[in-house]
This record gives sequence, C-alpha cells and structure tokens, in this order.
Amino acid sequence: DIVPLKRALISVSDKTGLIDFARALADAGVQILSTGGTAAALRDAGLTVRDVSDATGFPEMMDGRVKTLHPVVHGGLLALRDDAAHQQAATEHGIEMIDLLVVNLYPFEETVAKGASHADCVENIDIGGPAMIRAAAKNHAFVSVVVDVQDYDTVLAQLRAKGGTDLALRQRLAQTAYARTAAYDAAVSNWMADAIGDEAPRRRSFSGTLAQGLRYGENPHQRAAFYVSGQSRPGVATARQWQGKELSYNNINDTDSAFEMVAEFDPAQGPACAIIKHANPCGVARADTAAEAYRRAFDCDRTSAFGGIIALNQTLDGDTARAITEIFTEVVIAPDATEDARAVFAERKNLRLLTTGGLPDPAASGTAFRQVAGGFLVQSRDNGRVGRDDLRVVTRRQPSPEELDDLLFAWQVAKHVKSNAIVYARDLATVGIGAGQMSRIDSTRIGQRKAQDVAQALSLPQPLTSGSAVASDAFFPFADGVEALAEAGARAVIQPGGSMRDAEVIAAADALGLAMVFTGQRHFRH
Ligand code: 5GP
Repeated sequence: DIVPLKRALISVSDKTGLIDFARALADAGVQILSTGGTAAALRDAGLTVRDVSDATGFPEMMDGRVKTLHPVVHGGLLALRDDAAHQQAATEHGIEMIDLLVVNLYPFEETVAKGASHADCVENIDIGGPAMIRAAAKNHAFVSVVVDVQDYDTVLAQLRAKGGTDLALRQRLAQTAYARTAAYDAAVSNWMADAIGDEAPRRRSFSGTLAQGLRYGENPHQRAAFYVSGQSRPGVATARQWQGKELSYNNINDTDSAFEMVAEFDPAQGPACAIIKHANPCGVARADTAAEAYRRAFDCDRTSAFGGIIALNQTLDGDTARAITEIFTEVVIAPDATEDARAVFAERKNLRLLTTGGLPDPAASGTAFRQVAGGFLVQSRDNGRVGRDDLRVVTRRQPSPEELDDLLFAWQVAKHVKSNAIVYARDLATVGIGAGQMSRIDSTRIGQRKAQDVAQALSLPQPLTSGSAVASDAFFPFADGVEALAEAGARAVIQPGGSMRDAEVIAAADALGLAMVFTGQRHFRH
C-alpha cells in the first residue's frame, strides 16, 4: 500500500518549515507545483517550482479568491489511480496526478483574534485551500494530505524509508485534514454568529486541537484527552508547567476552577489564594501577603485542603512556597513564580507548578457548554459581577463598612461554589463553605459545622462563623435559611433576592438584627 510521491502541490499561508520540507521533497525527486506567494518563497530559496497558473492555463484572479479551483487541480487530486475511465479522462484533458497536497489555510482565526475589520475577516476565509484539502483527503487511498507543519517530518521519514507513504499514514493525515476543515468552518460560523449577534444560531459546532492525551478520565476506566480551543485566555490550557508529572483529567478541571476563582480578585487590591477540591473551593482568602492569604485559606478547612489545588492571583514567592510545602498539594498555579519559590518546589518532585504569565479577565465574555444526552447546552460564561453601587440594603440595619467588604468577598467566592452555595466569611477569608447540596438549608448547616470543627481543632473560644458575613448564591426560599445563619452567628447576609417570600425573609432578618443586601443577580453553578 505504499504510494510513491511524484508530484506535490504546495500552497501555504504559514510558511514555517516550508523551505526545508520542499527542498527535501525536491531532493527525493518530487516535482513541485505551487501558488503565487508559496512559489515565490520557494524560488527565492533556489528551488525549481511550476506555477499552478501555468498548469491550469488560468491566472490567479479576483484577489486570490480563485487560484486553484480548476479541474486540472481537482482532477489531479480526485482521480482514482486504479480506474481506467478516470485515468482516460485525465489523459484526454491533460490532467496530471497530484500525489501529495500540502496546504495550510488563510489565517482566519488569527485575523479575527486580532480584531480585524469585517471585510478583512471575510477576505481571510480560504475557499480553494479547504476544497483541495477535502478532495485530497477523500482520495486518501492514493493521495497524502498535509495540513499541519508538524507532519512535514513524518512524511519525509516515510518517503526516505519506504519511497512513499503507507495507507495507515494517509488515513491519519486525512482524518487530521477533515478535523482541520471542520474547525476552520466552525470558526467562520461562530464568528458570523457573533458578528450578527445571534445568540442561538440554528447550527453550531466547536472544535479543539489535541494538547495532551490523558492517562484516563474522571475514573480509571474512562479514556480521556485534553483539547485546547486556541483562545489566548491565561489559564490551565496555556500555562507553562515547571515540574511534576503530567496533569490528570481531574487536575486540569480543578486547576481551572482554582485559577478562575482567584482571578476574581484584582492583584492591585492585594494577594488572594484559593484552595480547590473536586472543583469547589475549600478555602479562599485575601491578606497583606500571599503566604498569609494561603495560611488563612488553609485554616478554613484543613482536612479538605490536603491534596488540594492552589491558585494565587499574583507571583508565587519563596515564603508562600515554603508554607505550601508543609502539606501535600497536587498543583499550584499562579501568574508567575520567583526563582526562590521554584527552588523550594524543586525539592518536591511530585508537586506540579504552573505559571500563566497573567490573570484572565473575570468580566470577559465567552461561551460555555456542557453535554447532555443527545446534545449540548450553550450559554455565555458567567461574567456577572456586582459592586457596592449594585447592592440594595433591605433590612433596618445597614451593614458596617467591614461587613460590606466581607459580603462582597463572600459573594465573589460563592460564584465559584457549586449550588446550593453558602459561604461564610470573616476579615476577607472564608470560614465555612457549604457546597453542592440539594437544599440551601443543608449548605448552611455544612458551612457552620466546618467552622465548628476548625474551632475545636484549633481550640478557638468560638467558631469563626460567629460575627461572619454570609453569601448565598441564590435567594432563600423560606425564612429558615436566614434563621440557621443567625444561629451560626452570622451578622450580615448577601443574596440575590427575588423570592416570593422575600418579605418573610427580610422580616426574619430584621427580627434577628441581621443586615441584609440584595444583589439582583444570581450565581447558580452546577
Ligand atoms: P500563496 O501564499 O501561495 O499565494 O497562497 C497560499 C494560500 O492560498 C493557502 O493558504 C491556500 O489555502 C490558499 N489558496 C489556494 N488556492 C486558493 C483558491 O483558489 N482560493 C482561495 N481563496 N485561496 C486559495
């Protein structure tokens, strides 16, 4: 099943590695056909090339919109080599077979990403390239198609070893080729949906590029891989890993949750630290130093923090690194790490350190999706944020300035806790988190109990929930939730409001002397 490579058509926008690859092909006796810019680059390097326009007898025209869309090209890609009628048609019409197609497309995705004009984006929709790629991939029984620069070496290696390509390689190249054209059209379609402001286009596709095969998925019997979408948002997909073994499926998921959590806190307002377990924070704190923020986050739930994933909103320094290495941690992610911190971590071979070069913008728009049986749900990402001016005090008692700081802090944390979420905070640190319960009252009690456990372990006179400010990700359906918070010692509450029984809930808060504010915004997270 080896097909020798006699003639290649090369038409590439990204000219990385082009000259070396084409020279190696020419040295192996492969004739090269090429389009305008590619041919010029090859000739500059002293290679002999035939212009596609010479083969078709048509000039490239209409600003390059029509270059290779011609039967001489498509016949050469699509003709079955073992079909007499196909070969006779080719001979009659002067069509020569093309055995290798090397195409990478107009940089549409990059053009959109750099914010180019609508007209520029349209001009960067490649037409002839995808048409050739699809034709060559269809005829993979005979034709090799290369769309990734990384595959140049693979093809050369087989050409040298076997004098051509084998079917297994041609099949793999064809699979990659269709993934590329599908991704390309998905990018065009999603851009158009954005451009016309259509939130719910009739058809949607998403795509990704393999970043890493994973040993397994959420559980060892599940297969898994990590695909990146090519967006430049700083985070786990684009981070640099300094040490430690490969991230697992669950590590990647938790690291993402951790970093998105701390990104809520502007580093200009001071260091923040989050510790994540099973995609939920088990401690979050702000403080004057990163090491102090870590310690306070750790103190929220020392038991759960073991084997957790830690994120910082600023550079990891040596002191913080030393504090972190006191217990076992899976992953630390931060915008950067000092040399001192890296030296401390170097002694803990199993600890993974990731740096991202920056923080993602929590207010940025984006698309989130999740799978359900038979389809997927799409929504814009939860980039909702409330500030002081958005809050409405609904109780007789106004929150004090300190309570307000803690309320807003707790609210930002609650956004990243699975529903039903209840977050108790004191002095800009969480002191009790109730996550992922089916009833709000259960989350309230779980947060309270965690604080009681900490008080017992640290021999505190009373749990830190006493005097705390509390966030609830959604409204309290009944007054009992607020009563439970007061019982835990809470003094102030932040919640969206909007329940049928708001009046009852407010009356209960007033009776208990609580200060309560409404945000008018909900943060369900499942
Ligand atoms: P070059 O730099 O060689 O002038 O152009 C290379 C690019 O042209 C490649 O990205 C290739 O996909 C694209 N291309 C090749 N044929 C056609 C065509 O007929 N129409 C359009 N729009 N693009 C083409």
